[in-house]
Amino acid sequence: MKVELNEKGLNERKLRNPLKISTILIAFAIVAMSSYVNFSAVYAKEKCDQCNGKGKVECWECQGQGKWKETCRTCNGKQTVKVPGKLTAQGCKSCGGTGKEKFECSSCNGKGKVTCSKCQGKGKI
Ligand SMILES: [Zn+2]
Ligand SMILES: [Zn+2]
Ligand SMILES: [Zn+2]
Repeated sequence: MKVELNEKGLNERKLRNPLKISTILIAFAIVAMSSYVNFSAVYAKEKCDQCNGKGKVECWECQGQGKWKETCRTCNGKQTVKVPGKLTAQGCKSCGGTGKEKFECSSCNGKGKVTCSKCQGKGKI
């Protein structure tokens, strides 16, 4: 009788333990799964490869200069203008003698950089 009771007690314990372990396993699986989901959600937000995570890219229209140059229309790029009545040519005042006129880039408003079209300036996708 005594042995029988012990065996019964052992069996109960044996039955109880796997139940507890499976409960822990399920709980662990849920935690593991949710953390995996969180991890994959973080991992999915990768750095934007177009702007290298900066959110801004170099303006393609002015090559990041903010301003672009065009041949001066006053001197036609010659840097000097002929003054009527004078033999010597004068330095062009329109371009300051550079032969080029500077324009502010309309695409980037002279900043040289524009908001990344791929990530809308967030830096992450
Ligand atoms: Zn520009
Ligand atoms: Zn000029
Ligand atoms: Zn980007």
